[in-house]
Amino acid sequence: MSARIVRSQVIVVGAGFTGLSAAQLLRHAGVDFIVIEARERVGGRVEAVENGLGERIDAGGQYFCDDMPEISALADAYGKTRADGLFAGRWLIEPGTIVGTVEDLYRRSASIRHRANELDPDDPSIENVSVRAWAEAQPDAYDAQWAFLGTIEGLWCQPTDLLPLWYLVSNDRRITNEVPELQYFLKETMQSLAEDLGRELGPRLRLGEAVRSIRHGPDKVSIRTDAGLYEAEHAIVAVPPVMTRRLMYDPPLPVEVCQATSAWRSGKVIKALVRYEKPFWRDKGFSGSVFFLDPLGLYACDASRDDDHAAIVVFAGGSLAEKWRKAGNEAARTMILEKLATALGPAAAAPLDVTMRDWTNDPWSGGGYFDTIMDFSAKDAEAIMRRGIPSVTFASSELSPSYPGYIEGAIVAGRAAAQQAVVQTRAARADPDKALAILERIGGLPPEPGDEMPERTARQVFAPLNTKTP
Ligand SMILES: Cc1cc2nc3c(=O)[nH]c(=O)nc-3n(C[C@H](O)[C@H](O)[C@H](O)COP(=O)(O)OP(=O)(O)OC[C@H]3O[C@@H](n4cnc5c(N)ncnc54)[C@H](O)[C@@H]3O)c2cc1C
Repeated sequence: MSARIVRSQVIVVGAGFTGLSAAQLLRHAGVDFIVIEARERVGGRVEAVENGLGERIDAGGQYFCDDMPEISALADAYGKTRADGLFAGRWLIEPGTIVGTVEDLYRRSASIRHRANELDPDDPSIENVSVRAWAEAQPDAYDAQWAFLGTIEGLWCQPTDLLPLWYLVSNDRRITNEVPELQYFLKETMQSLAEDLGRELGPRLRLGEAVRSIRHGPDKVSIRTDAGLYEAEHAIVAVPPVMTRRLMYDPPLPVEVCQATSAWRSGKVIKALVRYEKPFWRDKGFSGSVFFLDPLGLYACDASRDDDHAAIVVFAGGSLAEKWRKAGNEAARTMILEKLATALGPAAAAPLDVTMRDWTNDPWSGGGYFDTIMDFSAKDAEAIMRRGIPSVTFASSELSPSYPGYIEGAIVAGRAAAQQAVVQTRAARADPDKALAILERIGGLPPEPGDEMPERTARQVFAPLNTKTP
């Protein structure tokens, strides 16, 4: 281990979209920083792998839509090409024996979700109620309840009987898109955008170096990694909430912060891209989208990049992902193809290749799509983590005021954390007016310490950062 201590004003731990976005803002603000990332690549839960053709495809975060302003603007600024994620044609539901149309079932299930979002997350009467218990007590028909629960298990990737209703409501209210979230993906991959942001950091980015411990004082942090020691005035810990618990803190985190970090559980998800010779489902008038009620938590849709890349992407979330993880990759692949063949026809059983990525128990992400609060009593956990401690700010997509759990949320959370770090540097405290002028120039002011982050449209706040800089 090197004896040399590397010093900077701010250390960012983690180079997912949160860490990369924090670093981007620090760079614009002229703050000296280092980003330390455990993996040999940037992107975190955004990751590209090779398909059978040796071409890169997104095995993690991939989709976005027009209602997500930061990621949309960033993708444009870095010259990425959008592929359409929505395809014309009939949606299918499995089992196909469900009475009525898919649209009708979707409408009835969406109305349950809408009703849930009208609840007050602070209402004491729902404090100990799980999403499943609440849904089953609704007056809606069984199939609509089941479709609602399937949607929630598929998106939150947790068993709905263990998911607090108040958490779902407080989280879902911040996911405000009106156009479908699968509207676009990037032909170059989302990972390529993370790589562009990482490349701009040059030697400030340290890859393949896991942070193990954080020693923290009121205005100083010392960070130990596998390879060395770093010192700074402030640290932004840009890892998912569950992963913050794997770090050692000296002195230990205050009890309430410790409890807050313990309230979260990683989601469980497996994503598979199934490539075909041609998009045969379109010949039958199908869009490729299949919403499975059996098993719950399974969803498939057309992910063809163009006519030469016909593909269906499959997502298995929650209990199903856990079951398939235990069964092993080969068994999961067989089950995926069986399910697709039942819905789309026998041609679905004969793909060119299947590229699977199991995110359950991922060593550096914990899981996916995102962590959720599973402790019914931990109503303040998110606010406490956002406040952090004097020299450490916790940031991740999960803690974002808008689009928590999404890439959009990661960008907003990273930039907000960097703003907090900028005003806490010694230089900023010595000359607050200058620090505020810098923040205004790059967009917006940080919340007052202890404030809840305001609900705001990120575009107004961060627009100046969505440009590619030399
Ligand atoms: C399968 C899957 C599909 C998804 N699909 C979408 C989608 O289509 N659209 C969308 O918007 N979102 C999607 N998401 C969610 C989205 O990818 C995440 O919300 C977002 O990327 C999280 O970014 P982050 O920076 O907060 O966390 P992460 O991406 O998890 O980044 C944290 C980083 O910290 C690093 N790290 C952890 N511990 C340490 C340590 N001790 N020392 C140093 N580094 C450490 C990790 O290696 C990682 O790089 C998906 C996620 C998954 C898993």
